[in-house]
Amino acid sequence: MTKKELRLRDDFYSFPTCLKCHKLYNKQEVEDYKENDINSVMKCRHVEFSNLATRRNRQCQTILSEQVLTIDRFKLKFKLVYPFAGIRQQLMAFYNRLNFKNFLRHWLNRTNSDEILSDIYDGQI
Ligand SMILES: [Zn+2]
Repeated sequence: MTKKELRLRDDFYSFPTCLKCHKLYNKQEVEDYKENDINSVMKCRHVEFSNLATRRNRQCQTILSEQVLTIDRFKLKFKLVYPFAGIRQQLMAFYNRLNFKNFLRHWLNRTNSDEILSDIYDGQI
């Protein structure tokens, strides 16, 4: 309700992530995962060095989520989430900042010191 009143929007995509190998998964895939037609907790299927014949069947097998009891039902809680904002949302947020367009050219007007190299173009090369 607070988010709604303050008009805060959550424009992040979130990807369930393996704690061990950091492989990202599709949120819906993890939420809808079933074993024998029963909703289950999904385990990581990543195989490190999958081109090696000896490791082909060694999956990471780290649990990606846990079932948490809420007031009336079980809910899936991801062990680790990788939040990701799309480039369009990020650019929109940047351009909505006050004077953002002026700051894009701010580096042209900075004061330069001959003794301090602060930019790659300050040197001789
Ligand atoms: Zn993993």
